[in-house]
Amino acid sequence: MSGTIGRIGFIGIGRMGWPMAIRLIEAGFAVTVQDAVPGRAEDFVRRHGGTAGEAARGAEALVTMLPTSRDVAQALAEAGPLLAPGAVVIEMSSGEPSATRALAADLAARGIGMVDAPVSGGVARAETGSLAIMTGGDAAALERVDPLLRAMGTTITRCGEIGAGQAMKALNNLVSAAGFLVSVEALLIGSRFGLDPAVMVDVLNASTGMNNSTQRKLKQFVLSRSFDSGFGLDLMVKDLSIALQVGRETATPAPLSAQTRELWAAAAGLLGSGQDHTAAARFSEALASDELHSPQINRKG
Ligand code: NAD
Repeated sequence: MSGTIGRIGFIGIGRMGWPMAIRLIEAGFAVTVQDAVPGRAEDFVRRHGGTAGEAARGAEALVTMLPTSRDVAQALAEAGPLLAPGAVVIEMSSGEPSATRALAADLAARGIGMVDAPVSGGVARAETGSLAIMTGGDAAALERVDPLLRAMGTTITRCGEIGAGQAMKALNNLVSAAGFLVSVEALLIGSRFGLDPAVMVDVLNASTGMNNSTQRKLKQFVLSRSFDSGFGLDLMVKDLSIALQVGRETATPAPLSAQTRELWAAAAGLLGSGQDHTAAARFSEALASDELHSPQINRKG
């Protein structure tokens, strides 16, 4: 498991994987892309280069960027045996730490390394190669894949053993999800009081209530009614379930976290599949029989 990496396989060129794979190609790596959607890999290659096909065949590193750990296990069952001897799997999905540890043990028995390196920053920062990447795994393997990670992200933080990056990622999204919902509730209350929600966002951003949702989501995706941040509601519920799973595994009482997950799951149930996570604001609006709008913000759609 040593030596520089030239040939990279990339499985899962969805909303995040697509721009991340572009960054690897632009950094000079030879990348083979693969996706379950027929024609998607070929479309990517026509526009951005690289090759389409069995991503793992002969690869020295294989990036997985798939919805869930179950998808990763399925993909690796086929891809694992095709990898070059001594290759490293870089699992960048927001997956389950315990599932990733089990996969890493299976791969290690076949001489294949694995690190987890989930990301934060969304599609916008994937496009600019400025993702926050949180890693878990063996130091030597992480050292080896560092040039790849640096092509995709600017803040790379080692969190611990394999699975530690994914635990950190789920907990990040727990904080982010709670911040989003309470911010929307605050806007609903303020709006009924007579405050303009856009003015409220400006005040929050100049005050101690500021958070990622006040900075990057409420005006952009909620007050505009566009609900198109590029991060799915179902994926957020999955991340919150992982955070609670880690909470159970560590016997940590976390009642507020449990309620946060329940609220997001209820929003997903009410709104149905295929929604952007920022559409969860509609759930809070439904509870209040109200809708957020501001005379300052042009509504899209
Ligand atoms: P997505 O649904 O847009 O993309 C997933 C891609 O994987 C799809 O193109 C799908 O066809 C493909 N796929 C699924 N199973 C496959 C398989 N077995 N083999 C090959 N391809 C397969 O999802 P996304 O938004 O890109 O998210 C990917 C991961 O990144 C998730 O774990 C998510 O939680 C995480 N994440 C997403 C964001 C975001 O803003 N979208 C931000 C940070 C982290």
